[in-house]
Amino acid sequence: MGEKATPRHSRAELTSWDHRHLWHPFTQMRQWLVEEPLVIARGEGCYLVDLEGRRYLDGVSSLWCNVHGHNRPELNTAVVRQLEEIAHSTLLGLTNMPAVVLAKKLIEIAPPGLTRVFYSDSGATAVEVGLKMAFQYWQLKGKPGKTKFASLVEAYHGDTLGAVSVGYSELFHRFYRPLLFECFRLPPPHLYRFHQGLSDKDAMAKAVVEAQNVLSRHRDDIAALVIEPLVQGAAGIWTQPLGYVRALREIAEENDILFIGDEVATGFGRTGRMFACEHDLISPDILCLAKGLSGGYLPLAATLTTEEIFSAFLAEYDEFKTFFHGHTYTGNPLACAAALANLELFETERVLERLEPKIVFLRERLGADLAPLAHVADVRQWGFMVGIELMRDPERRIPYHPTDEIGIRVTQEARARGVIIRPLGNVIVLVPPLSISRDELDLLIEATRASIQAVTERA
Ligand SMILES: *Cc1c(COP(=O)(O)O)cnc(C)c1O
Repeated sequence: MGEKATPRHSRAELTSWDHRHLWHPFTQMRQWLVEEPLVIARGEGCYLVDLEGRRYLDGVSSLWCNVHGHNRPELNTAVVRQLEEIAHSTLLGLTNMPAVVLAKKLIEIAPPGLTRVFYSDSGATAVEVGLKMAFQYWQLKGKPGKTKFASLVEAYHGDTLGAVSVGYSELFHRFYRPLLFECFRLPPPHLYRFHQGLSDKDAMAKAVVEAQNVLSRHRDDIAALVIEPLVQGAAGIWTQPLGYVRALREIAEENDILFIGDEVATGFGRTGRMFACEHDLISPDILCLAKGLSGGYLPLAATLTTEEIFSAFLAEYDEFKTFFHGHTYTGNPLACAAALANLELFETERVLERLEPKIVFLRERLGADLAPLAHVADVRQWGFMVGIELMRDPERRIPYHPTDEIGIRVTQEARARGVIIRPLGNVIVLVPPLSISRDELDLLIEATRASIQAVTERA
């Protein structure tokens, strides 16, 4: 890296302006306004660097989206090259090279059967697009009664209203309830396993029977089932056993219900395969992608679908069967160029091959160092998505109280040790960049262990 650029504004100025003018996402601003913010100035590999040059390991991939590290020369070059051609032009009535080539590439690597790519700019919009496509599809197919959706309990699909409707979480979304459409909720295996103490096998069987009952009873009403395959991320890294996604896919198909896979978090290698659906060898009817799509560089999302769904929208202009949906920056060339370079790195760096031993290493270290801690109730992992659930008394299933702020305190402790992680309630979440080295993984696990120990022994 070159010389450290002299900051144009002082820390004091930035803090004061941030506190005066910014409103941060998912943040209790009263708390924020009395804290000194950590100002990130640069990135370097798996590290974030603050204004004063202090380095922090990025243990959450800057919210689950960074793939190959920060400031990657290959990605930088791709973005700069595209920038020198054009930063943006529209996909309404025009097309552009990065958007076309990326669509072709995505279809090549996506689960079989998906043939069409619809771009947008965030995970939430990728889901909105999927929901609207599914909804309109049934209208166009002459089944206008199929207007409802099904999803998993505590699902998270983004923060726009449609995505919130299928992803309702009492904590995040209770104020918006009157604005949301109804949705059938299926309890995932994790609920039965963790909260009812069933074995893996019994939990899975119970979840599948429940899904079968609901979906078959309401098959004439339900347009689509939307799930986060393999891992419900924001719920607290709720993992699903192999076979569950396949079972849901089959039940949906038997009942003429479209299957929407929200792989916004799990896509692009997160679970050890390019897409989580691959673990269960299934193809969704609609696949939602975002986060890792651009390597964590720029806001870009895609909703992939089949020729069957696409062709239902084909008609004469004045039949108005068009999919009337789009965003100003749909198919933005700069973001698509970053995504193309991201996919190229997966190939040239054999990222998935090299990930496998790191996943095994992570699993071993979690088992050896984290699981035995007195207040660790559950350690969940699929690939590079990890949730460590803390409880006041794991044996008697007594959780920490929200006022304990246990997760927040652990992440503060980790920050003092040079590691950035984020909690989901009482669950400590680790989602490192796929490019992380063994030594860096070591630091991540050791800092997490020490932080949990320091906080829980005091609590
Ligand atoms: C993060 C996430 C979203 C929302 O993505 P945004 O880009 O934040 O809108 C949707 N679905 C899942 C599974 C996610 O993890």
